[in-house]
Amino acid sequence: MSTANSETKQPSDFIREQIRADLAAGNTASIVTRFPPEPNGYLHIGHALSICLNFGIAAEFGGICNLRFDDTNPTKEEQEFIDAIQQDVQWLGFSWAGEAKFASDYFQQLYDWAEHLIQIAMAYVDDLSAKEIRTYRGTLTNPGTPSPYRDRPIDESLDLFRRMRKGEFPNGARVLRAKIDLAAGNMNLRDPVIYRILHAKHPRTGNSWCIYPTYDFAHGQSDAIEGVTHSLCTLEFADHRPLYDWLIDKLPVPTVPRQYEFAKLLISHTVLSKRRLTRLVEEGYVSGWDDPRLATLSGLRRRGVPAAALREFVSQNSVSRNEGEVEMAMLEHFIRDSLNQTAERRMAVLRPLKVVITNFSEDKIDWLEAINHPDKPENGIRKIPFTRELWVERDDFMEDPARKFYRLSPGREVRLRYAFFITCIGVIKNNSDEITEVHCTYDPETRGGDAPDGRKVRGTIHWVSAKHAVDAEVRLYKPLYTRADPGANGDFIDDINPDSLEILNGCKLEPSLNKIERGVPIQFERSGYFVHDTDHRAEYPVFNRTVALRDSWAKMKAKS
Ligand code: ATP
Ligand code: MG
Repeated sequence: MSTANSETKQPSDFIREQIRADLAAGNTASIVTRFPPEPNGYLHIGHALSICLNFGIAAEFGGICNLRFDDTNPTKEEQEFIDAIQQDVQWLGFSWAGEAKFASDYFQQLYDWAEHLIQIAMAYVDDLSAKEIRTYRGTLTNPGTPSPYRDRPIDESLDLFRRMRKGEFPNGARVLRAKIDLAAGNMNLRDPVIYRILHAKHPRTGNSWCIYPTYDFAHGQSDAIEGVTHSLCTLEFADHRPLYDWLIDKLPVPTVPRQYEFAKLLISHTVLSKRRLTRLVEEGYVSGWDDPRLATLSGLRRRGVPAAALREFVSQNSVSRNEGEVEMAMLEHFIRDSLNQTAERRMAVLRPLKVVITNFSEDKIDWLEAINHPDKPENGIRKIPFTRELWVERDDFMEDPARKFYRLSPGREVRLRYAFFITCIGVIKNNSDEITEVHCTYDPETRGGDAPDGRKVRGTIHWVSAKHAVDAEVRLYKPLYTRADPGANGDFIDDINPDSLEILNGCKLEPSLNKIERGVPIQFERSGYFVHDTDHRAEYPVFNRTVALRDSWAKMKAKS
């Protein structure tokens, strides 16, 4: 098995300590883990924690990790999700042992084990409806009441179960239940349903089955079939562990897996549950599962978040048994940190304003040198064209400069990055009194950005030659939620930030951006980190801002 290079120090947490102890005590010779997604949606950043944990542990301890789809609910599962999940796991930098596995690969074995449980009087077919079963089950303070079918003869249960499998009964008519303890304090042990009738086409097994095992009956047994030693899942399954162990104990399984639970990763200002993500996608609040505003892995990837930044982020939040929310700002910190090291710098003007250098001749082009990465001299330099007409950011000019505004304004001298000092000598306006051109002169002595007489300027701004600029669409994102806990006071849909997406057209890119390979992140100087969107075409460039250069969350908090 191969895995992403671990950038982290030797991690330690209660699960890894358990594994070290098991290895030392000889409880197991080698470690097998699995990542078990249900293919009913796309993976999100919370799943990244589970992926890094399962695959990471296997790699650290010289074991293997399976990818196993938990595909026991055909009404909600789709091939599209199976494909997307595999792509996301690989993108995160991991590869699973052998072929991808599926709980549905084991349907026949699981069925045989269900018959075995009936034969040893540990399971029975129940004719009660789902609603009746709930009522009979009792409450936390009252024990359950046995179903009138609980003690039906083994042969009768076996016959009915076989007929369920043959498709003789409609959905919901009967279920198979484990016979455990109706007075158990743990509700999961009050004769849980282990098989139900579901006349539904399965993405993999088609119409060969019309009864399906429940999660509880499939999961531990699949672990046992695969020889999983440490079955790692989130805390909501802690109450299922006694049932997991009961089934492993009663069935003739080939190996004995153990379940361990850890706290979910929760993040502020976003939603992670698949139920909520599905609603956002299906009701059209976002453009799809890979909308760059979502914390799905495909959304984060499309937005330009490097897989390495996600792995780093996740490994910082060490695995524990305590649930706590992590600030979105923390995730952005890791993204910025990673991109700062890797992304080359370029110039791009997002909201263009024309500057005319009146003392620079019309047909002249001066090719200047710009540094590709300030900390990586090995990345070299590139040539950028300087011409009479340039684009600068509208925000970098003020006709009546505010206090502490040190950029371009009438009479003021500023530096054009990598180029010359220029001085504003006037503006041209249209009939609506809007500035259409800023006229400047340049000082040829300052070529490269410094004045030989030691003269200083307070502002440096970026620019692009109008003659050479590449037009592009740029998409800027704000958080999909401005409140940390969407849905805390009602429907989480009502908390959606209506200004989460801003599309800028006619942005002006320096020409060398045409040569950047698709998917390679770039810093647009002073504006942030950007990457091609999936809508990008050579003839119509589209870039996403992954993250701005500075922490925008600090500002947001100050305002709210
Ligand atoms: P959701 O709660 O988002 O609907 P799920 O638990 O239903 O997710 P599964 O496909 O069953 O989704 O999850 C696969 C694995 O990922 C499980 O082992 C699950 O415990 C784990 N997992 C899910 N959400 C998180 C999370 N937020 N943090 C860590 N692990 C998670
Ligand atoms: Mg689940």
